[in-house]
Amino acid sequence: MKNFYHLTDSPKTWFEDIANIKRGENKTILESIKDKVFQQYDNYWQSKSNLETLISTSFSDKEREALLHCYDNQTQKLEELKLKIRQTQPIEFSSTCQYCGINYPNTFDHYIPKEIFPELSVLHYNLIPCCSECNSNKGSKWISNNDERRFLQLYFDKLPTDRQYLFTEIKFDDGIPNAKFYIRNEYGVKEDLFNIIESHFKELNLRSRYALKSNEVISEIKGRTLTYIMKDIDAPIENIIESEIFALRNQYGMNYWKASLYEGLLYNEFIETLRLYAIQEMF
Ligand SMILES: [Zn+2]
Repeated sequence: MKNFYHLTDSPKTWFEDIANIKRGENKTILESIKDKVFQQYDNYWQSKSNLETLISTSFSDKEREALLHCYDNQTQKLEELKLKIRQTQPIEFSSTCQYCGINYPNTFDHYIPKEIFPELSVLHYNLIPCCSECNSNKGSKWISNNDERRFLQLYFDKLPTDRQYLFTEIKFDDGIPNAKFYIRNEYGVKEDLFNIIESHFKELNLRSRYALKSNEVISEIKGRTLTYIMKDIDAPIENIIESEIFALRNQYGMNYWKASLYEGLLYNEFIETLRLYAIQEMF
């Protein structure tokens, strides 16, 4: 999980360009409510560190429909906007959803739901590339009953780059390693931010989704480790895995789940068991 880079283009120009393609009544409506939409764009930018304070603008049913139409009706301009958002991100983001770090990011989430704030339907700061699993888990529940944000806004909530909060513990069940993931604020992440991180993980079921994916990773690392040991009984497995953890964190962020899982596997009997197993197989 890493921060996104937002576009530096004026979101107002994108709105105008998308609205200008429309025909008939929608075009007239969008032109007539443009100032209200732009006011909200300014409010969004000014409240970017406390978006929970943003208040939705009131629109008639027809105005609301026209605003939603800007996103729901695929146009070349909208596709251009989506492509530009994707192309502004580092290459590794193109294949991994940054909400979860697991799936392919095949959709866009409206961070502040367009059903509640239709005026934000094509605001690029509000469009987050993500996977459909995260998108449907999130739905339109972005705020808790206490008006606290439930999810990370990956353009504006600055993620800790050097503080670990995701940890993995490995338990052995009949010799089979089982991974459990935990969120702990051990290194002093600011409390407000940590609360959102904790809620983000809970609402998107990340701990259990990681646990489900972990067998696949464990068997892959087991296979690779055995190959190293078979080739060289003294292969510096711990060093190799440590370098891999470093590379993964560099690429996908300090709290990337696979890096945390590798770390969990490194600091227990997993490697030693594999070494003994390899020796038995060889002699
Ligand atoms: Zn996802």
